[in-house]
Amino acid sequence: MALDQILARMRAAERAAGRGEGSVTLIAVSKVQPADRVQAVLDQGHRVFGENYVQEAAAKWPAWRAAYGPLQVHMIGPLQTNKAKLAVDLFDAIHTLDRPSLATKLASLAQARGALPQLFVQVNTGEEPQKAGVLPADLSAFLRDCRAMDLAPHGLMCIPPEDQDPTPHFAMLARMAADHGLSGLSMGMSGDFETAIAHGATHIRVGSAIFGARAYPTP
Ligand SMILES: *Cc1c(COP(=O)(O)O)cnc(C)c1O
Repeated sequence: MALDQILARMRAAERAAGRGEGSVTLIAVSKVQPADRVQAVLDQGHRVFGENYVQEAAAKWPAWRAAYGPLQVHMIGPLQTNKAKLAVDLFDAIHTLDRPSLATKLASLAQARGALPQLFVQVNTGEEPQKAGVLPADLSAFLRDCRAMDLAPHGLMCIPPEDQDPTPHFAMLARMAADHGLSGLSMGMSGDFETAIAHGATHIRVGSAIFGARAYPTP
């Protein structure tokens, strides 16, 4: 079964990096996957999932939470400010805090409700114009502004450019997290999660290698 294989490869990568067993969290990215594939992974006991779209997650996860008990759902897709309220009610973590307007919105939601999901700041390590994320040069100021609003990000997240070796991007993200005293590192996908673990990933986001190819392409 694909999940078992991915878990075994994760454990081997943890060992090879001299890291403790279980130091990396596997986020099974279930966006646009048919329900039977997701249920098969739930039935195998996996409890940490990732979604890209607020509406899709809102339609799927409340029933599975009720049926399967405690589980974590992580938001890993771009988050529109007008969906932030729904998102903080739905998700256990948001990996895509990427701009001041979203930080301001989350800070006001935190004031109103007292707690927020765990937050990761998305960094555009490849400085790609079409990609979301704070530019590396702007990260210090962005984190300072977040902390001034009483937001306490747990870590950093990146999606390296598709056509490049991800290694320097993972190394850069790890260095920036260490520089800013952040312990979470969300990096690595189906094709490169072992490299990400070697560079200190605490959360890997793996979709197609667990569930198979997605039914339609996603942005
Ligand atoms: C879809 C997605 C993934 C999973 O990608 P796979 O290549 O299927 O493992 C990981 N991270 C983000 C941000 C995604 O949008």
